[in-house]
Amino acid sequence: METATTVKTRVYRFGDKKADGNSTMKNLLGGKGANLAEMSRIGIPVPPGFTITTEVCTEYNQLGKNKVIPLIKLEVEEAIREIEKTMKTKFGDDENPLLLSVRSGARVSMPGMMDTVLNLGLNDKAIEGVIRKTKNERFAWDSYRRFIQMYGGVVMGMKPENKEDEDPFEEIIDHLKEKRNIKLDTEFTVQDLQDLVYDFKDAVKKKTGKNFPTDPWDQLWGAVMAVFDSWNGNRAMYYRKIHGYPADWGTAVNVQAMVFGNMGTDSGTGVCFTRDAGTGENVFNGEYLINAQGEDVVAGVRTPQQITRLGSERWAQLAQISEKERVASYPSLEELMPEIFTELDGYQKTLENHYRDMQDMEFTIQQGKLWILQTRNGKRTGAAMVKIAMDLLEEGVLDEKEALMRIDPNKLDELLHPIFDPAALKDAEIIAQGLPASPGAATGQIVFFAEEASKYKYTILVRTETSPEDLEGMHLARGILTARGGMTSHAAVVARGMGKCCISGAGALKINYKTRTMTVDGKVFHDGDWISLNGSTGNIIEGKVATREPELSGEFGELMVLADQYATMKVRTNADTPKDAAVARSFGAQGIGLTRTEHMFFEVDRIKAMREMILASTVKGRKHALKDLLPMQRSDFEGIFEAMQGLPVTIRLLDPPLHEFVPHQLATQKELADELHISLDAVKSKVAELEEFNPMLGHRGCRLGNTYPEITEMQARAIIEAALNLKERGIETHPEIMIPLVGTVNEFLEQEKVIRETAESIFAKRKTKINYSIGTMIEIPRAALLADKIAEHADFFSFGTNDLTQMTFGYSRDDAGKFLPIYLEKGILKEDPFEVLDQEGVGQLVLMGTERGRKTNPHLKVGICGEHGGEPSSVEFCYRAGMNYVSCSPFRVPIARVAAAQAAIKEK
Ligand code: PEP
Ligand code: MG
Repeated sequence: METATTVKTRVYRFGDKKADGNSTMKNLLGGKGANLAEMSRIGIPVPPGFTITTEVCTEYNQLGKNKVIPLIKLEVEEAIREIEKTMKTKFGDDENPLLLSVRSGARVSMPGMMDTVLNLGLNDKAIEGVIRKTKNERFAWDSYRRFIQMYGGVVMGMKPENKEDEDPFEEIIDHLKEKRNIKLDTEFTVQDLQDLVYDFKDAVKKKTGKNFPTDPWDQLWGAVMAVFDSWNGNRAMYYRKIHGYPADWGTAVNVQAMVFGNMGTDSGTGVCFTRDAGTGENVFNGEYLINAQGEDVVAGVRTPQQITRLGSERWAQLAQISEKERVASYPSLEELMPEIFTELDGYQKTLENHYRDMQDMEFTIQQGKLWILQTRNGKRTGAAMVKIAMDLLEEGVLDEKEALMRIDPNKLDELLHPIFDPAALKDAEIIAQGLPASPGAATGQIVFFAEEASKYKYTILVRTETSPEDLEGMHLARGILTARGGMTSHAAVVARGMGKCCISGAGALKINYKTRTMTVDGKVFHDGDWISLNGSTGNIIEGKVATREPELSGEFGELMVLADQYATMKVRTNADTPKDAAVARSFGAQGIGLTRTEHMFFEVDRIKAMREMILASTVKGRKHALKDLLPMQRSDFEGIFEAMQGLPVTIRLLDPPLHEFVPHQLATQKELADELHISLDAVKSKVAELEEFNPMLGHRGCRLGNTYPEITEMQARAIIEAALNLKERGIETHPEIMIPLVGTVNEFLEQEKVIRETAESIFAKRKTKINYSIGTMIEIPRAALLADKIAEHADFFSFGTNDLTQMTFGYSRDDAGKFLPIYLEKGILKEDPFEVLDQEGVGQLVLMGTERGRKTNPHLKVGICGEHGGEPSSVEFCYRAGMNYVSCSPFRVPIARVAAAQAAIKEK
C-alpha cells in the first residue's frame, strides 16, 4: 500500500509556459514528454498536456489495467482540468469539446514503432459542437472518421495482423471511392465522410462485437492502455531487438490538446530541421502543407512545400519546375506566411541553442496561430553527424570533448564503405533479412560457387556458408550472402577484414546448389539474377540498386585528428596482406595487432604447397613442402613490414585445423591427387583422417605447432628473415611473434624454444640481429586463469575474444547462429556476445588475465584482437581494463579511434 508520504507522481503536466518536468527526465517521461516539458519551460508554444510516466508502463505490465487506472485516475483528471483552462474548452462537452492526442514516447525515439491516436474525444454529439465552433463541417467529419479509423485500428484491434491483409477501413474507403468514381480523400463530400463514420462504426461492431465507445473518458483510458500494449507489440519489439533496447524501459504516454492544421487556408502543418540531416549543412529546412494534418506530410499523397525560400528554389530546380510555377503552386512558408515563418525561425534558433544540437521539429498552424508540437535531436546520416559536430565546435557551441562525444562511432561506418544511392533505395523491394555482418552496399548477379565469382562483372556470392576454400571468390565478389552463420562466422570475419559487404545467417534463404537456385518465401532466384545487399542493415533487396562511393569530407579528417589528441590507448589493425595494412594505415592504424598467417596459405598458388605439406606422411616430406612455402611467407611479411614502416606488427603462427586446407569436393580431390601423383584414395583417406567432431576444440592453434614444430620453425624463419631483409634496406621493423590458443605454460615454452632457436641460428648465420618479441593469444579461459605463470615468459598478451567468448559461453562460433537470434528475441541475451564483448562474464577473464599477467611481468603489453576490438562499447571496456591497444579490421580503425578518445574523455 502506498501511504501519503510515499505517493509518487505518475502524471507530469506541461503547457502555458510551465511544466512539472524537464529535459533531464527522459527515462521517466520518455524523450517526447521530457522535451515537451522543457519546451514549455523555455516559452515555446506547445499545446498543453500531460505525460504518464514510463514507470506506469512497467506497473501496467505487472499489475494490469484494472489496478493501474485507479493509481493514476485523480492525477489525470486534474491534468485534464488544466488543459481545459488553457485551451478554454471542455473534455466531453458537446458545445465546446476538448479533443486530445494520445502518443507513445519511449526514452529514445522509435519512429513509427508505436501507435498514436488523434482527435480523441469526438462522438456524435461533440461533432456538432466542433462544426458550430469551426464552421467547417468537412473538417469536423474528416476528423471524426480519422479518429474512428485510428482508434479502431490501434485500440480495438481492427488493424490487420499481416501487412498484406487489407485494412478493413481502407477497404471501406476504396469501396466508396469506386462508387463515387473519385481518386483522392480530399474529393470526399461531407456526406461521404458522414457515411464513412457510420460504416466504420458498423465495421467495428461486426468485427469486434463491441460498440465504438462514445464516452470520451472510456476512449481516453482505452487509448492510454493501447499505448502501453504497443510497447510489447511486434513492431516495437523488433525495433528494440535491432537496437538492443531493453524491454524494461517501458514507454510513457503523452496526452495533449489537439491543434488542427486542416482548418482552412490559414492553417497548415509541417516538419523542419535546424540543419540539413543528410549533409549537415547549416541551413534551416523542412516541408509543410497548407490545410492538412501531420500524417498528410509524411503520407506522400500531396507534394509538400518547402519552408524556406532557398529550399524551395533548390527543390524547384531539382524537380524542374519553373520559378513562375513554383511561386504560384508551391510557394515556401517564408513567402506565403512571412510572419509565421519569422516566428518559426525564431523558435528553431531558440531550440537549437537550447539543446546545442540539430533539432527535428514538428509544427502546426491553426487558424493563424503557430504551435510547436515537438522537437528532438534530429536523426542524421554519418556524414551529417560529423559535419554538425565539427561545425558546432567551430561555432563555439561545443568544446572539443563535447564535439567528440557527439559522434556515434558506429555511424562512421557509413563514411567508409560504398552506400546505396538514397534515391534508388526508395523503390527497393526487401525480400529477406540477415545479420548485418559487414557494412556497405553491394549490387550484383547471383553466383553460388566461389569459383564462379568472376562469371559476371558484378557478382554476389550466395552460399549456405563459406569456408576458407571460398576465399578467392569472396575477394572477387561484390558482396557475400550466407544462409547460416553468425557475426563471427567465417564469412563475416573474412568479409569485414576485406571491407566487403556481407550478410550472414539469413535463415529465410533456401539454397539449392544442384539447381543453382535460392528460394525466399516461395520466390525463386536463379544464377545470374540481380540482388542487392545492405551490409549495414542486413536487408536483402531484389534487383539492382545503384551504389555510390563514400565521400570523405574534410571534417572527417579533422575529427580524426581531434580523436587522436584525446585517445591514450592505441588502435592497431588486423591485417593479413600488405594491401590491408596500407588501407589500415590510411585510416590511422598505429600498428598491426593480428596477422592471421593462415589466410596467406589460401591463395591459389600457395594452397597446393600447403596441401602437399599436410598430405606428407613424414617429417621429411613436410619439410620439403614447407620449403616451398617459406619464400612466399617471407615476401608477405616483408610487404607487411614495409607497409607499416617501423610500427609494431604482431604475426600469429598458424591457427586453424589442417582439414580446412584440404579439399572436400570430389572434383578438387581428384585434381589434387593428379597434381601430387598420388591416388585419390590416399587423398580421401587423409581428408577423412583429419576430420574432427569438434574442430574448434580440436587440432588447431599451438597444438599444431607443438605436434608439427617444423611449421613453427618455417614461420619463425620467414618472419625473422623478412625483418633482416628490411633492415638491410634500411627499414625498421618491430616483429611480435604470437602463439595462438595457448592453455598451458608448457605449450608456450615449447613454441618459444623453437622460435628462439630458429632466430638465433639465423642471426648467427647472417651475423646480424633484430629485436623481436614473443607473446601469446589469451583466448582459452585457462590461459586467463594462469596468466601470471604465462606472463613470466611472454612479452605480450593479445586477448582473442572470439575464441574466449566461444569457450566461456560454450557456444560454437560456427553454430551459434542457430540459437542466438532466438536468445536475443526472447531477451535471454541482451546482445550477441560475439559482437559486443560480454563485460560481465568474458570481461572478468580479460580483467583477471591483464591483472595477473602484469603482476609477474609489469612491462607486459596487453591488447585485444578479437572482433570486439572495433566495437565501441568493448573498446571502452578495453580502455578501462588498462590495455595498451585494441586491434580491429582496417575499416573499423576510425571507429575504434573515436571510441578510444571517448573512453578517455568519459573517464576524466
Ligand atoms: C580470436 O579468437 O579472438 C582471434 C582473434 O582469433 P581467430 O578469430 O582467428 O580465432
Ligand atoms: Mg582465436
